[in-house]
Amino acid sequence: MKDHREIAKELDLFSFHQYAPGAVFWHPKGWTIYKTLMEFIRQKIEKDGYQEISTPVMVKNQLFKKSGHWEHFGEHNMFNLAVYEDEEIESGKIPTKDIKGLKMVDVNYSLKPMNCPESAIIYSARHRSYHELPIKLSEFGILHRRELSGVLGGTFRVRQFIIDDAHLFVRPDQIQEEIHKLILLVLEVYKSLNFTPRFYLATKPDKAMGDKKTWKEAEKDLQRTLKDTKVDFAIKPKDGAFYGPKIDIHIKDSQDRDWQLATIQLDFQIPQKMELSYTDKDGQKKRPVMIHRAIFGSFERFVGIITEHFQGAFPVWLSPIQVIVLPISDKFIDYAKEVKDALGKANIRTDIDERNETLQAKIRDATLQKIPYLVIVGAKEQESGKIAIRTRDGKDLGQMPVNQFTNKITEEIENKS
Ligand SMILES: [Zn+2]
Repeated sequence: MKDHREIAKELDLFSFHQYAPGAVFWHPKGWTIYKTLMEFIRQKIEKDGYQEISTPVMVKNQLFKKSGHWEHFGEHNMFNLAVYEDEEIESGKIPTKDIKGLKMVDVNYSLKPMNCPESAIIYSARHRSYHELPIKLSEFGILHRRELSGVLGGTFRVRQFIIDDAHLFVRPDQIQEEIHKLILLVLEVYKSLNFTPRFYLATKPDKAMGDKKTWKEAEKDLQRTLKDTKVDFAIKPKDGAFYGPKIDIHIKDSQDRDWQLATIQLDFQIPQKMELSYTDKDGQKKRPVMIHRAIFGSFERFVGIITEHFQGAFPVWLSPIQVIVLPISDKFIDYAKEVKDALGKANIRTDIDERNETLQAKIRDATLQKIPYLVIVGAKEQESGKIAIRTRDGKDLGQMPVNQFTNKITEEIENKS
């Protein structure tokens, strides 16, 4: 079994460079997989009333001090910067801090490690009424976390990544229904990837924010919803987030390794810290509850996992190149181009191998590139206006007209096979 970095190199998916430790350089093919997964999530959630937002990457660290991340997430796990305006520098009043006996300029900015507090800013940008809730804000924001360089390992542990993140701002009476919908969403998404999710309820950690009673009630809420949705689950004691209990969802890959991917977290604390409110039916100002959720988690890690899971032979819908056209000789390049254009018009990602190589060599290389379908065109095909098809596993599917093949692939892409 190959490591995802080795597969990525062979298939030209992504790479790393010493200039940016722990950050991925996505090559066109790898980025196609990334974008396809992102689009998949976008399509799934837009039906359910989510609205996508985008918030700044570099923000004043006061925000994280206010939200509680500075204290609980740890300032040492963030990238912090000293960014002062010219006027501040000229005034000579730049704050300093003693670090290991050295007097250093104090940091005032951070690269965001999470999207939550900034989603809260958008929520509170205007007055909210009870009938507007739930408000569901999704964000594919670039996040940075300061992992030590020694623990970095391919895309599994990186310093820069994007999560398929969303924050739901709900009334207390909407918690169960929204959690229920999220569990169903997770089940649906994983089913289309043939993963069987396992659910865990993670309870109050020792270093938690908020009172015991609220925690107990929140844990009960999650437990009840899991039972009502009829999914089996186990308890992960003391493994909740600092702001609330959560449901973690794990999968097993083709090598029987266990991965925690999705998470659904209930949060009563950040709404309080960020002073969020809505006007209820009775005209009273109330505090919304925040639900944090991700389905794939970090795309970087998820692409790494599925690269190893499929050993580079991605299902058709995720394959960066879905079809390659192989002309038997130079004489058939024009017909091969016609075929490629027809497939391209049907939004099938198609390549063509125009090299002056033998058909055997072209088939071997396309197979090594794990391209799902190989279309071979020669005299017979050109005369009949058909194409000959092989799979990457060496199965011969015989000849068929281009439009019949197009329909077949389009159906496979739609069915996520
Ligand atoms: Zn969050």
